[in-house]
Amino acid sequence: MIDFQGVLVAINEAANNEKEKGKSADYIPELAKVDLNNFGIHLIDIQQKNFSAGNSDERFSIQSISKVLSLSMALSLIGENVWERVDVEPSGDPFNHLSLLELENGIPRNPLINPGAIVIADILVSQLKNPKEDFLAFVRNIANDDTIAYDLDVAKSEKRTGFRNFAAANLLKSYGNLNNDVDVVLDFYFHQCSLSMSCAQLTSTFFLFINHGKCKRNNIFLTKPQVKRINALMLTCGFYDESGEFAFEVGLPGKSGVGGGIVALLPNKFCVATWSPGLNKKGNSKLGMLALEKLTTETELSIF
Ligand code: GLU
Repeated sequence: MIDFQGVLVAINEAANNEKEKGKSADYIPELAKVDLNNFGIHLIDIQQKNFSAGNSDERFSIQSISKVLSLSMALSLIGENVWERVDVEPSGDPFNHLSLLELENGIPRNPLINPGAIVIADILVSQLKNPKEDFLAFVRNIANDDTIAYDLDVAKSEKRTGFRNFAAANLLKSYGNLNNDVDVVLDFYFHQCSLSMSCAQLTSTFFLFINHGKCKRNNIFLTKPQVKRINALMLTCGFYDESGEFAFEVGLPGKSGVGGGIVALLPNKFCVATWSPGLNKKGNSKLGMLALEKLTTETELSIF
């Protein structure tokens, strides 16, 4: 039996002792206010046993981690048609890069970088009656937790400074890969990114990716092939232009966000989330990456 609790406590201690904590995502002013000393980690295993250390119940802005959830909802609504509008290749570029969009005629490289997630947001805006309410209900339903909510200050803050996302959306529109108004799609996108959740809530939500598409109550949200595809995308595209490094160091599918959260998982075994708001140069949580490297090295549990 692996002593997950012991490993998490040791990881938390090491994180607290680390002097270099990275830098917050100050391009979204509201995120720059978060205390860099926060660190939390939570792990749920396939038997639904929970282990945690540090600030694992404190909520933070999940940012790009939401892209996995919006993709899941789009796939559950229109299935494989999603892939007509977005590709499944790693970009090797930062999350907000625009040059590939020009080179590849408005088809974003994958749904986990900003332009790809904006196309997915457009699909949801077209498909849903009340997009923001319906998406929130979808996430709450998976997690079985009605306290999950948008952080409206973060959404507003990002709207004021989201110049690159406006550029990406306009470029997509010029290539005919955005059906709704730029403002409407981005309003939805900024809200989905502002979802506020704790490490514990993230692992409850992402449990379905270790459990063949079934949530903790065993309700089916995704088919097995859909889960296979989403997990593959998390492995190859989940960490901006550092996805190779994350696979190399940690060896798990996962997704990070500029709020400092990371969620990672080993199908059939466990799902883990970390939060430390300081980012490295590539925009991934500095201590979160170190923590997950320790977890998989010490437990010898990774997909490899
Ligand atoms: N809302 C952020 C943006 O669009 C998400 C970035 C991220 O977490 O990678 O810039």
